[in-house]
Amino acid sequence: MRVLIVEDDPLLGDALKAGLKQRGFEPEWVQDGREAQTAMGVEPFAAIVLDLGLPGIGGLDLLRRERARGNTVPVLILTARDAVHDRIAGLDSGADDYVVKPTDLDELAARLRALVRRSRGVPDPLLRVGDLTLDAASRGVARDGRSVDLQPKEFTLLQELMLNAGRVLSREQLEERLYRWGEEVESNAVEVHVHHLRRKLGADVVKTIRGVGYVLPRGEHG
Ligand code: CA
Repeated sequence: MRVLIVEDDPLLGDALKAGLKQRGFEPEWVQDGREAQTAMGVEPFAAIVLDLGLPGIGGLDLLRRERARGNTVPVLILTARDAVHDRIAGLDSGADDYVVKPTDLDELAARLRALVRRSRGVPDPLLRVGDLTLDAASRGVARDGRSVDLQPKEFTLLQELMLNAGRVLSREQLEERLYRWGEEVESNAVEVHVHHLRRKLGADVVKTIRGVGYVLPRGEHG
């Protein structure tokens, strides 16, 4: 899932981006508060990782502005170990959670997964729809108890469809959730991934709604 990292420290930002990518996220990274505001205005991120001391607009200001305009995206702030005041100010400004620097990447990834689950009203870490299960932590997928190997994009696609089971997602919506900035996207990329999901999990797993998009039927299988 796509997350936005807002961190002006080049080493830390780079490490966060690489670490989250390795853990199955599709991360974008900006180093400036204003850039972050622009990105949040146009892109559907599943969560934001926000440093507080930033050029442009500070992290707390940015957070307050986003909450004031009704943005409910889960936000996890990065703070220094001894900066209790920052954590309090951050949580009181609308942050959902925090991690201290230096950041343990496994902990950050787990906290992000938890925030995204809660934000989507899916408290169980194991996603289940019909006889399909998906474990975001171990990246395991199974149908009817039989585990299936998926490529990273196929996994992300299935996760988005399962999180939105019963709702039709357009090709554009799926592309936005699957691909990072600058990543080359073939015009039929989503179609190809859907084809692979059907081949691996069964033809009935994803329904095409012609001219509209794709839907994972709620509970029709199993
Ligand atoms: Ca900083």
